[in-house]
Amino acid sequence: MFSIRQLYILVSVGYTLLLFLAMLMLRAFWYYPQEEDRALQFQQNEIHGFLSAFALRREQLTTLSQDYAIWNQSVDFTQTQNPDYLSDNFSIGTFTTQSLAATIILDRWGKPLFMASNHQGQLFDSPAYLSDWAEQSSTGFMPSATTSEIQLIRNAPHLVASTAIRLTEDSRDIHGWMILIREIDQAFIHVLAEISRLDIAFIPPPYAADMSNLLVPVRDIMANRPGCFLDNSGLPALCVNIRHSNGDGPHIINFSIFVGFLLISIIPAIIFIMLLRVIVDPIEHALKFLRHNNRNGQVRPLVFSKSPHVKELIELKNAFNQLVFASKRQQIKLQHISNTDRLTDIDNRRAFDTALDKCWRRIQRHPQSIALILVDIDYFKYYNDHYGHQAGDKALQLTAKALAGCARRSDEIAARFGGEEFALIIEVEDARALESLRHKINESIRALDIHHEFSPVSKQLTVSYGIAWIKDSGPWLQNVDSYSWVRAADSALYEAKAAGRNCSMLQMITRELPFTESPVLQKLPD
Ligand code: GH3
Ligand code: MG
Ligand code: MG
Repeated sequence: MFSIRQLYILVSVGYTLLLFLAMLMLRAFWYYPQEEDRALQFQQNEIHGFLSAFALRREQLTTLSQDYAIWNQSVDFTQTQNPDYLSDNFSIGTFTTQSLAATIILDRWGKPLFMASNHQGQLFDSPAYLSDWAEQSSTGFMPSATTSEIQLIRNAPHLVASTAIRLTEDSRDIHGWMILIREIDQAFIHVLAEISRLDIAFIPPPYAADMSNLLVPVRDIMANRPGCFLDNSGLPALCVNIRHSNGDGPHIINFSIFVGFLLISIIPAIIFIMLLRVIVDPIEHALKFLRHNNRNGQVRPLVFSKSPHVKELIELKNAFNQLVFASKRQQIKLQHISNTDRLTDIDNRRAFDTALDKCWRRIQRHPQSIALILVDIDYFKYYNDHYGHQAGDKALQLTAKALAGCARRSDEIAARFGGEEFALIIEVEDARALESLRHKINESIRALDIHHEFSPVSKQLTVSYGIAWIKDSGPWLQNVDSYSWVRAADSALYEAKAAGRNCSMLQMITRELPFTESPVLQKLPD
């Protein structure tokens, strides 16, 4: 079984998790694919940037080869092999300024007329590697007017541009081929990186045959992408590594999703805290209050330090408090019923016993001069027998009322002690006060004027009573049982009966003359 706080926390945590899950799903299935597409497109654009820069450089070499090839002097050279043409146009200076690695001039049948390579600032005429390469590849350049390719020469990537040699004004007849070769190295790639503003690194050969083609559209997002240009036979001829500026692309869980989650959770969090304050806290307070009351057997009205803000809680509190007040009223009523004698409507024996205990403790703490009086109606059996039980009841009620009138102070008591016996506890300061009390009792009974033809002592209903008067109460009573006081009054009553009834007997109790086995009794006059 969950407590309301546990349930509340469970719901809050569950809601937060669900919210986070919902955000994650939204991101995974909606935003993330879009970001991924954008990242892929971005990487593709970067590759395009590089390809454009490379195409520009390729174009430059092609244009240069065209400049040389479509020129009357070049046509003239294919026919005359004039050495001045070579010295004027293909000196080491030309090779260096145009970054050329080699140049080959073929005649119209593909036979090399000139072949030179630039190796570290030195010109080499017809080097063997070039002759071999030209023999293997030159025919590949011949059919087309202009070609531009990337080829591995001496295991290094080279850009090879070839243009058919023609007269400037008449471009139909082919007189040979002008082949310009530029090496592609780290420096070449560095220039491309500068132009395209990309992070590109040259990968030196050898290249694995399965390296990816740069011209094929990309499918995956990569932080580092090795890619190659392929030669005519489909093998990698130039490979570079492109380090993409958007790294390895977007992530499903990133910082922004946490920030978003925090921002979105703020309002529900505030609502949850408010609900906790407004509902859970007052309920827990009420429960704590009720538990405490139950433990202590109390029925107290429910009080909140701050009034609840929820209508139902206020109603619950008011309803509970009304029940408490109703229960209190019933408790008072019940107490009254249980302490009151039904017939005479004065305190009963139970109330007397409680009052006696209380008085006994009080007179030990606070010295007092106080008397316990036991009153018994004389020959009441005869009264009942002759006047009937109902009349007996009536006589009891009147006697009770008369005696109750003698005990007026809040710490005094007049109770029905048993059948036709009554007990009084009344403060009696001195002998005069005692006399006055006796007078009051005698007069109030006499004033009832209840006719009792069958009483041997009087034509009126009379009472006898025994007085146990403690003159100087105090701590010395601590060792005495409160009922000794009752017994003392009872024996005084007994003596009054024995002395002929319609009279009273007094037993004085003092520190010097405490409760003794044979009390000193004093018959008091009527
Ligand atoms: P004594 O002077 O020695 O006290 O004589 P008594 O007749 O008063 O004493 P006893 O104890 O013999 O009788 C008491 C009578 O009180 C007996 C009983 O019928 C009567 N009595 C006790 N309680 C009630 C009551 O509630 N109603 C009525 N009507 N009579 C009661
Ligand atoms: Mg009696
Ligand atoms: Mg009697």
